[in-house]
Amino acid sequence: MGTPSGSATRGERRFAALALAVAGALTPAVAGGGAGATPRGDTARSRQPGPGPAPVPLARVPQVIGDLEGALQRALRSGYALAARRLHETPRCAALFRSLGADGVAELARSRYRSAWSELCMHGVAALTPVGQPTVQLCPGFGALDPRRAARTLIHEALHAAGLRERPPDPTAPSAEEINRLVEQGCDL
Ligand SMILES: [Zn+2]
Repeated sequence: MGTPSGSATRGERRFAALALAVAGALTPAVAGGGAGATPRGDTARSRQPGPGPAPVPLARVPQVIGDLEGALQRALRSGYALAARRLHETPRCAALFRSLGADGVAELARSRYRSAWSELCMHGVAALTPVGQPTVQLCPGFGALDPRRAARTLIHEALHAAGLRERPPDPTAPSAEEINRLVEQGCDL
């Protein structure tokens, strides 16, 4: 029943790299060197540039699937605009994504939002994202968030889309609270 030490080590290293990025210790050159480690295929491949990151246009309007109730829509629009601005203007915020081999602006731009009704929504969860996938489910509670908290949540979810796991269920990954702290500090939210 033991955990294979290999995977535990890898998870810890990934978290360490993320924390390092937040601390501002990763130079752009070092972070760029790790870009080949992306585990994702399909659309991610076409976004991996050769010599340097291609500039990604700042997306100001979120992509929505289906209908969103008014409060969700308002929180999404204001939170999304703030999240996009922080990713664009704050190097430490962008570094959170670079440490995962991803581009934060592009990750946010490819995110699609839809309303969710999961049991987890009943337990204070504001949004849910399957790791590695761009579809973010917004719980009713998301609609009550102010723009800063909404932006923090959207960046948190975009990190999951970029491949960041969470504890639970992954015992080697950072907890939701730890991810929120990284985003708070790195993105000034
Ligand atoms: Zn999470």
